[in-house]
Amino acid sequence: MRCLLKQKKNMSVLKIIGSGSEGNGYIIECTDENIVIELGMPFRQYVMATDISKTRACLVSHKHGDHFISRTAERFMKFGVPVMSNADTASSYTGKDVFGCIKVLEEQKPVKTGGFTIRPIRLEHSADNYGYIITHQEFGKLVFATDTTCFPYKIKNINHLLIEANYSPDIIIDGKLSGKENRSKFNDHLSIKQSVDAIAENVSERTKNIVLIHLSDSNSDASAFCRAVTGIAPQSKVYIADPRNKIQEIYL
Ligand SMILES: [Zn+2]
Repeated sequence: MRCLLKQKKNMSVLKIIGSGSEGNGYIIECTDENIVIELGMPFRQYVMATDISKTRACLVSHKHGDHFISRTAERFMKFGVPVMSNADTASSYTGKDVFGCIKVLEEQKPVKTGGFTIRPIRLEHSADNYGYIITHQEFGKLVFATDTTCFPYKIKNINHLLIEANYSPDIIIDGKLSGKENRSKFNDHLSIKQSVDAIAENVSERTKNIVLIHLSDSNSDASAFCRAVTGIAPQSKVYIADPRNKIQEIYL
């Protein structure tokens, strides 16, 4: 019994409240603190999912509306939570500045907040975009990357990888042949093939969880994507981000 209690105490959880073009929001909860990634959801949904008095920071990848809502950022800052991103996101902020402004992070320069260490890495997109390498003693090393045309990094000892798998070119072609309109900006996002290649370059026996995020509604196939990743990373648990009006929880 004592053992079980100890295990529970050190268990971190990833909570997904939104993933995709309708809005993105991720929370990593540790025992005494949490960190938010992406502010593309209404503030109340974060409040329902976690204790924001324990939120050490909100990290935003880029300024697009499904990742960054100024009103949500404003509400977090009103509660004293710093919001961090790149200069492009900071300059797009339209909320009140009486509660502060968006803290600009420098590429590759680590910052510490609570027990979290955050290192931003540059990603290629139609807006300035950051991925994040986040470390904490409770869950180890987590890498977050979305909305990018490539992932040109080889990062050692990743324990948890959250990476975009937006579309399959085959599904887009099938859609065109059947006359369906293509709504996916596929030259601005990572395809499942690019995602699989990036995962293959970065996984190791230490990689416990791989979470595919930001799937396109019309141009993806969740179970086929899951099989493709499981095939190259049999040692990892593979998840598809799919919160659909409820909070999805993944133990880290
Ligand atoms: Zn975007």
